[in-house]
Amino acid sequence: MRHAARLGRALVATAIAMALATPGHAGEPALSRFTFRETHMGSEFKLLLYCPDEATARRASRAAFDRIAALDKALSDYDPESELMRLCERAGGPPVAVSVDLFNILERSGAISARSEGAFDATVGPVVRLWRRARRTRQLPEPETLAKALALVGFAQVKLDAKAQTVQLLKPGMKLDLGGIAKGFASGEAIATLKREGVDRALVAGAGDIVVSGPPPGAEGWTVGIAPLEAPGGSEPSKRLLLRDAAVSTSGDAERFVEIGGVRYSHIVNPKTGVGLVDRVSVTVIARDGATADALATACCVLGPRRGIKLIDDTEGAAALFVRASETTESARFKDLPVSPVPPQVAP
Ligand code: AMP
Ligand code: MG
Repeated sequence: MRHAARLGRALVATAIAMALATPGHAGEPALSRFTFRETHMGSEFKLLLYCPDEATARRASRAAFDRIAALDKALSDYDPESELMRLCERAGGPPVAVSVDLFNILERSGAISARSEGAFDATVGPVVRLWRRARRTRQLPEPETLAKALALVGFAQVKLDAKAQTVQLLKPGMKLDLGGIAKGFASGEAIATLKREGVDRALVAGAGDIVVSGPPPGAEGWTVGIAPLEAPGGSEPSKRLLLRDAAVSTSGDAERFVEIGGVRYSHIVNPKTGVGLVDRVSVTVIARDGATADALATACCVLGPRRGIKLIDDTEGAAALFVRASETTESARFKDLPVSPVPPQVAP
């Protein structure tokens, strides 16, 4: 995720290179570019937007950040008061009525779990917590502790009732972790909020989970740089994409990992084994919406290129780039994407 933050930085740098104010096209007022930054979900969210005046930009960005903050409050697994954590406290009990946002993101999570054969699994909370501790103590989780945590993992143990809008966690001790999908979901919701406020040429980057609407004036798309696997901060992106009305997420272990006994374990875990990934990989996924791009990028890290690309090719409008220490693999659709400065026609 932090690796992806670099992706965000590369992107801002290229976006800044664009004109600050542009003459209006026929019937469109001259638009100025505005940038806003706030920290939410433990990451910096950046908003880049084009609109006619500062008052509109401020009002729209405030509404977008408020939407992200509200999602953070509901979905955080760090805040014991969040709606998500209060739901987890009732694991093993009867169904619990939840908000539309929590229900929707769990429904999306469940769908991607099923499609990825459990490679993406929002019930990994108990296992992720053991690896967070391992990062602090530099000691591997005890096998019995890991086995107990693993017994609580599996989306089949989450019962969603769309009609009643309830969630039931079947086993006591289950813990949901939406870290693999929430930032992409929030970036998408921020773009939707900006549109409602009349701003439809914008980019929202929650660290490496980026969603864009219409392109900057006079451009075919937003230029998004993909950082190389071993990128020192601010290094040249290995590839640049031109995107409009699309989402792009990058997942990998570039910065969040623990090295124990010479082995490097990622913060992304394989839900089947409970072990942090040890293959060095970074996956960039383009999709039509932020939650899908985010969750698929996490899933693809677990699946690897062969199974991952199959999942991507089966997802309408999605494309992926896998970068591993020794090789890069692109899905067929990724090969077809316009790459800057080659002129556009993006939009999946
Ligand atoms: P991302 O940076 O989007 O790939 O998300 C990584 C975060 O998702 C981790 O820090 C965990 O909180 C959570 N996570 C780890 N492994 C998985 C997994 N296999 N499925 C779903 N979420 C995961
Ligand atoms: Mg993700």
